Amino acid sequence: MREMPLLARSYILGVAVVAAVLIAVMAPTAGVPNDIAILAAFTVLTVLGELRSIQAPVGKDGVDLTFSTAFAFAILIGFGAVWAAAASVVASLVCDVLARKQWWKAAFNASQFVVVSVVTGAVFELCTGHAHLDLGTAFSRPSEIVGAICAATTYFVLNLLMLSTAMGLAQGTSVFGMLLEESKYQVLGSLGMFGLAPVAVVIAGRSVWLLPVLLIPLAIAYQSTIISIEKEHQALHDSLTGLPNRELFRLRAIEAVDDAARERNPWTAIMLIDLDRFKEINDTLGHSTGDLVLTELGPRLLGAVGEGRTVARLGGDEFGVVLPDLRDIDEAEEIAMGVLQAIRAPILLHDLDLELDASIGIALYREHGLDADSLIQRADIAMYAAKETGAGHKLYTPMLDHTSPMQLNFVGELRQAVETSGLCVWYQPQVLTDSCVVIGAEALLRWNHPVRGIVVPDDFIPVAEQSGLIRDLTRFVLREAIAANARWQRQGLDLSVSVNLSARTLHDLDLPDLVRVTIEREQVDPARVILEITETSIMEDPATAISALSELRSVGVQVAIDDYGTGHSNLAQVMALPLDLLKIDKSLVTGMSARSQSSVIVSSTVELGHNLGLKVVAEGVETTECWQLLCGMGCDEAQGFFFGRPVPEADLLRNPNLARRRTGTLVHARQHL
Ligand code: C2E
Ligand code: CA
Ligand code: CA
Repeated sequence: MREMPLLARSYILGVAVVAAVLIAVMAPTAGVPNDIAILAAFTVLTVLGELRSIQAPVGKDGVDLTFSTAFAFAILIGFGAVWAAAASVVASLVCDVLARKQWWKAAFNASQFVVVSVVTGAVFELCTGHAHLDLGTAFSRPSEIVGAICAATTYFVLNLLMLSTAMGLAQGTSVFGMLLEESKYQVLGSLGMFGLAPVAVVIAGRSVWLLPVLLIPLAIAYQSTIISIEKEHQALHDSLTGLPNRELFRLRAIEAVDDAARERNPWTAIMLIDLDRFKEINDTLGHSTGDLVLTELGPRLLGAVGEGRTVARLGGDEFGVVLPDLRDIDEAEEIAMGVLQAIRAPILLHDLDLELDASIGIALYREHGLDADSLIQRADIAMYAAKETGAGHKLYTPMLDHTSPMQLNFVGELRQAVETSGLCVWYQPQVLTDSCVVIGAEALLRWNHPVRGIVVPDDFIPVAEQSGLIRDLTRFVLREAIAANARWQRQGLDLSVSVNLSARTLHDLDLPDLVRVTIEREQVDPARVILEITETSIMEDPATAISALSELRSVGVQVAIDDYGTGHSNLAQVMALPLDLLKIDKSLVTGMSARSQSSVIVSSTVELGHNLGLKVVAEGVETTECWQLLCGMGCDEAQGFFFGRPVPEADLLRNPNLARRRTGTLVHARQHL
């Protein structure tokens, strides 16, 4: 027996003892019935009904619909409680043994039938004055009909009460809550079954041969129930993966939020998962491969989120998860990381290790919304933020939401930070791949927020871009980075500095002049300044990008295409751009292994860059294996946590591997994570 509360164990034992006593006392009182053939027929039907029960998809755990109740109750009316108990016990034991239920569960079910039958029989006798009716004259008096109604009600209520008590005690939840939950779905089905019992008794009283006639409508009703259940299943499930669809996802989300509102599961979250670059798989390997990948993902996601949670396919490459019973916020994030891990594990198809990645957004009940729809919408906003920034997973914050009042406040704070030097620039080393000598650094903006601490650019650059503040931010970083580079030159260091430009700054007509003036004022070599523009922002408006890049290059600076591999540029478009460097995106580099699909892409990108006369830089190098692979591919430069994380300028200058103007004294020690 799984660890079960003492109270639950005592309850189950108590029911079993009561049942045993009832059997001992009552069994000898049961006489041999006249119509043994009818009793046998009803018993067989009770067993058959139990064996062919249908799981209807209502409520949280589904509800068992079975016509065995109808015939057990018919036995009770026509032959008395003892025979009804006997038939139910046989049916329940046969069924539980075949289903390999644990012995104590089977014993409890059987005992429960004994208790319910005996109590119901007593109520029936009280109402009608007979232990059972005579089959030939059954229901000729109104009191017998009233008796049957009272008995049926007793049977239903007692059965429910006992079952809910057992479940409630075993799961340690409120017994009353369980009772309500259960009864909601049981009432209708049971009404039909109890209604059938008197009909069966009367018909059998006329002639046992009429029973098959009764079975015809029953079989039809049974079959059509199965069909309608199947139809309902289809309407609420995705045909490819078999997972719940968007509609059922929403229903489950509403249910979870209702429960949370009733304080049953205070920590409830909605999670949306969107695969990254899934379109590429469909486009290059065909839709049937895409379908295979999606089918493979279903069980992986179910495994990663854990039992009792809904994983739904919302359409295309988007999945949704309802997390109704979390320990705390951290658990939601842990689950998100587990899900990412499950998605990232390579899928072997057609002798190729397919590597997938995804972006996940999470919204938490109460903190981020009070109803299912707004939680779903906010999880979607968080998911898009995760996608835009490549963050893997993201918890919703009003900062991400352009419509929230908090974001307006956030813009105000950011503006203040620009004016009051609340911003700073950190530097991440860039190395020559084969020697690990540091030959430059990328300037990465940080916001030193008075309350939040260090805020990373992914959390505020999108806001800055929308509010127009990005212009001031870019100017700040440019001035800081070029001034830093001048300091490095004065110290005899031979380092370049890279600065990120966002799409919007390309439209800034004053930018080339600003770059030129700053470079002249600081007296740095313009070739030591590299401006990085992402592939996606170039492809948004290639014409503007080409003219802006050409003008910047005329100042003498170098230009790099950043995050290469995330946009959808083609070779002709890249060839047309005035570029010096190509930076391969970290999403391709980080998880690379010898056999992987991404290592094929990275090595062909290195080749492509070289053929176009560009220097190639790999970003996101985190492991020795990855670094060695890049060495083998002839990738010129590399950047990543393996060589060093972004750090304040003073820390960068402590790196023992910095390239100096007079070389020959290099220390070849790499920094590790
Ligand atoms: P990016 O240009 O791709 O910059 C590299 C980002 O990757 C940095 O994140 C860096 O910390 C991270 N990174 C570096 N090595 C590794 C690694 O081995 N593994 C992993 N997982 N990550 C690594 P950071 O500093 O948070 O910057 C994020 C993005 O924000 C940058 O991506 C860039 O697009 C943008 N950004 C940063 N500073 C500026 C800025 O001054 N202006 C503009 N417009 N954008 C900026
Ligand atoms: Ca960059
Ligand atoms: Ca990058």
